[in-house]
Amino acid sequence: MPADLSVDTPVVTRFAPSPTGYLHIGGGRTALFNWLYARGRGGKFLLRIEDTDRARSTPEATAAILRGLEWLGLDWDGEPVSQFERADRHAEVARDMLARGAAYKCFSTQEEIEAFREAARAEGRSTLFQSPWRDADPATFPDAPYVIRLKAPRTGETVIADEVQGDVTFRNDQLDDMVCLRSDGTPTYMLAVVVDDHDMGVTHVIRGDDHLTNAARQTQVYQAMEWDVPVFAHIPLIHGPDGKKLSKRHGALGVEEYQAMGYPSAGMRNYLARLGWSHGDDEFFTDAQAKAWFDLKGIGRAPARLDFKKLENLCGQHIAAGEDAALLHELEAYLAAAGKPALTQGQREGLARGMYCLKERAKTFPELLEKAHFVLTDRPIDADPKAAKALDTVSRGILSELTPQLQSASWTRDALEAVVAGVAETHGLGLGKLAGPLRAALAGRTVTPSVFDMMLVIGRDETIARLDDAAGPNAEAPEAQPGARA
Ligand code: GLU
Repeated sequence: MPADLSVDTPVVTRFAPSPTGYLHIGGGRTALFNWLYARGRGGKFLLRIEDTDRARSTPEATAAILRGLEWLGLDWDGEPVSQFERADRHAEVARDMLARGAAYKCFSTQEEIEAFREAARAEGRSTLFQSPWRDADPATFPDAPYVIRLKAPRTGETVIADEVQGDVTFRNDQLDDMVCLRSDGTPTYMLAVVVDDHDMGVTHVIRGDDHLTNAARQTQVYQAMEWDVPVFAHIPLIHGPDGKKLSKRHGALGVEEYQAMGYPSAGMRNYLARLGWSHGDDEFFTDAQAKAWFDLKGIGRAPARLDFKKLENLCGQHIAAGEDAALLHELEAYLAAAGKPALTQGQREGLARGMYCLKERAKTFPELLEKAHFVLTDRPIDADPKAAKALDTVSRGILSELTPQLQSASWTRDALEAVVAGVAETHGLGLGKLAGPLRAALAGRTVTPSVFDMMLVIGRDETIARLDDAAGPNAEAPEAQPGARA
């Protein structure tokens, strides 16, 4: 735990997206880090929608972000906070700063500010605006619109003790007196963030390092209000596999796109957690492990690179390790998200029976569904061209020889193996030689779960019916091959 935290200070983290689009994979990771940090410490994880930019914020974007978080399984405490709705409170704090002498009214017009900058440029001075109103006598105040500016320190340094970046020092003479309240009475974003984080009791601000410079200005606001500065952890952004800044050409950027591609959310969480954070050599881990292990020290300083192979590999492990009922539930959510038809009751039951073998070696839900074709499809099974090749006359004859024996076999893996092995042996064939025709008959495919698993999952009647269908009405048991019988 960070040194400044006592047992009495519960951890409060937050995710503060701007609702201007979908939940970006980088935002998803930021949310995950905040969630893991809070949940691993019995703390709170809050959600704040930074919707002050009225022109760019939309309710659709907010809904998409919430959906993305829900899919990722990142539950937040309480209701999401709307930053816009808190504008009065932000303005109140600006006036409080004014009253404390930590801020001042600035009556400079845009033209005056421009003129200041031009003159500064011409004289080779810093173009950071220095307001003439900073120390002005209120008796000289005109009856004109004004903004409230922070009376930021002009000398010395503002240091961010960042948990990821280390101490980051900003020279105060390079930070201007930022506007906190505009002349129309609306708060600026920079003020709003600090007031909200303070009021929400946020103890740890974990966010992208594109906000590092903001942290310096925000720290000055905390200091002006004599509020505790939260622990900052600015995490490097995600890069594409080529090491370049992540962009559309690297593939999917929206969290929901990953859902629609059929990645399981546990795998996605595991992968995103590893994207920029590590715990020894651990690659595959559960949520419980991630919560127990996650800390700010394990976050790397270099940008993490997207690696789809690794994502798939972890997703495959999570599907294999998943609980059958939970997988079925998530599979159905995937079908809905991907706009595919919902399962029928029969298909659902078949999947529930077969999940134990379907979940092996499927990296995504589409792969799992492909393996599940034999439970999703109905008789007569339409064999694809490759599978159909396995159903030659000889094979069909062997299948018809199998059915009476299956009729009386007990329906266990051992018994089924014994029956099939017996028939194969009669024809001088290895068990493997019968797998092709059986796969074709039972699933119409060449890549399927084991034939015995398929038989166990669909049951005796359906197995026999499918074998009969494949054998055809006139199929006859072929002559045993010479020398086959001992
Ligand atoms: N709304 C900001 C963003 O979406 C985040 C601000 C913050 O985390 O402090 O980038």
